[in-house]
Amino acid sequence: MDDDYKIFPRGKIFIEGSEIKKIGDFDLLPEDHYDEVFDADGLIILPGLVNTHVHTSQQLGRGLGDDVPLLTWLIDRIWPYESNLNEHSSFISTLLCCLEMVKSGVTTFAEAGGQYVDGMGRGVKQAGIKGILAQSVMDIGEGLPSGWSKPVEALIEDQTEIFNNWHNKAGERIKVWFGLRTIFNNSQELILRTKQTADDLGVGVHMHVAEIPEENQKSIERNGLSTVRFLKTLGVLDSNFLAIHCVWMDEEEIEIFAEKGVKVSHNPASALRVLGSPKIPEMMEKDIVVGLGTDGAPTNNRMNIVDEMWLTSLIHKGRLRNPTAMPAEDVLKMATINGAKALNWENEIGSLVEGKKADIIFIDPDSPNMLPVHDIIANLVTAMNSENIKHMICDGSWVMKDREVLTIDEENLYKEVKEVAGFIREKIGYHSPDRFKKFKG
Ligand SMILES: [Zn+2]
Repeated sequence: MDDDYKIFPRGKIFIEGSEIKKIGDFDLLPEDHYDEVFDADGLIILPGLVNTHVHTSQQLGRGLGDDVPLLTWLIDRIWPYESNLNEHSSFISTLLCCLEMVKSGVTTFAEAGGQYVDGMGRGVKQAGIKGILAQSVMDIGEGLPSGWSKPVEALIEDQTEIFNNWHNKAGERIKVWFGLRTIFNNSQELILRTKQTADDLGVGVHMHVAEIPEENQKSIERNGLSTVRFLKTLGVLDSNFLAIHCVWMDEEEIEIFAEKGVKVSHNPASALRVLGSPKIPEMMEKDIVVGLGTDGAPTNNRMNIVDEMWLTSLIHKGRLRNPTAMPAEDVLKMATINGAKALNWENEIGSLVEGKKADIIFIDPDSPNMLPVHDIIANLVTAMNSENIKHMICDGSWVMKDREVLTIDEENLYKEVKEVAGFIREKIGYHSPDRFKKFKG
């Protein structure tokens, strides 16, 4: 995934430690010169995929939020679920989320923010992939679960402590960013202090932006301006600002993003479900960097970036009635190098280049859904299933071989998932058909 879409039909990659030392069609030294020689004959090698928007602690809430409007989803479904999590369930949730991501080729992801970052951090550390973590912070808004809304200073202090505990930990696989949930639940003061602290610490800010029309209405009511225009007047829109969804934006607001170098995370499945269809090709035409994301399990319900590539390639063609919109090479870039740029991590990940981290996936096209391979890039975007992804290396270490994830005991995890999810279901009263109806409102 370099700028020229260079393809080596008979390539080799030499890895030393966590880095790619050499790539291309070079001669191998005698076998005993290497610790391991892996024959990837017939496989397609790509940089590990990047998922720019994930809610690791929502993984155990899969299926709780189907077929309802966004605000019902948030207030009646997700907040009760999230307020019944703890450190341990967040760990189990994160581990399951990482397992699903590894199996769909993701070596790096960005978390939008959960309550128990220690549990999330332990999960990522064990899974062996890279993650940008964040805490979910809110200081205003109606109906927030008790204890969630805190004064600005306390929220900044909490996050700074998390930063000190987790940033650059696990061999620098873990980073910590600052999270803002949405304009519904974040005050002007919190937004300003968050951006200032993120700048001081040299990291980014992750925020859901312009998700539904009601969000812009609320912002106009409270601040006199739509979300994007208001964020602009606060001076927080910048190249370390990652805006999620960005569905309800007009041309002028897209222009503002382009001018300020704001990065965008496109989550097509979750957008189609409750939000609408964002103007992604229009943003890319203005050189806005756009990465792909799955969003959380109860919004999608699949945490599979391969499916998001396929969806991205389709929905904009449909919306614009233009079969040339969103070509496969653009989509592949979104899932790799542009995802890395969206996370300001492109100096180390997102493409297979000498000096970058060895984050690599091995794709086996020998399957009914991928053969024949006339056009490799088209097949990767529109024909590949996650099952085609056979092996994964992250930071030079094996994470998955022949679809077996080496860092996680799957059977044991499934047992724990059922146990913990059952406990949460009990707590929120989602356990009998009657209650189910009531829960559905
Ligand atoms: Zn989200």
